[in-house]
Amino acid sequence: MDLDAALGLIAEVPDFPEPGVLFRDLSPLFASGEGFRAVTDALAATVPPDVDLLAAVEARGFMLAAAVGYARGLGVVLVRKPGKLPSVAGRVDYALEYGTAALELPENVVAPDSRVAVVDDVLATGGTVQAACRLLEEAGAVVSGVSVVLELAALSGRGVLDGRPVHSLRVV
Ligand code: AMP
Repeated sequence: MDLDAALGLIAEVPDFPEPGVLFRDLSPLFASGEGFRAVTDALAATVPPDVDLLAAVEARGFMLAAAVGYARGLGVVLVRKPGKLPSVAGRVDYALEYGTAALELPENVVAPDSRVAVVDDVLATGGTVQAACRLLEEAGAVVSGVSVVLELAALSGRGVLDGRPVHSLRVV
């Protein structure tokens, strides 16, 4: 399956999880073996060559980063919602397109000076990926790139990432 067809599997759900939000549901894409492979291959190609580690944002980022990590021979650090990790290196609270949230980084996983690429499904306001980048940078890592499937241009997420390189498979 080509990338266009794979991205065409992403469903658009109006007014979820609240009125006015057009939710991009990757479930049909994840459920398609050919679609998932096409997106994984395309996303894997966006990860810079000198990266040491991938950082996956809970939860759909986990799916994508695991597949990309396998394709590229890279390990994955899981950037998690609060309360999931027994020992945390740091926590960042941030604003979402809808509501607020926080992310935590596990302790003793990210080596200082390591080069990390952040993987997630959708870049909306950028708050989530920015929080992940801040956690990684506070741990001493360098964010070499951010790879996402969809970038929602109207929400200007790229703008809050302060010049960190963003690679999106599609800007909508
Ligand atoms: P943001 O922090 O605003 O960039 O939001 C990004 C996170 O929220 C991603 O992890 C997405 O999974 C999720 N998200 C935000 N907006 C949407 C949307 N319109 N459709 C699907 N997922 C979204």
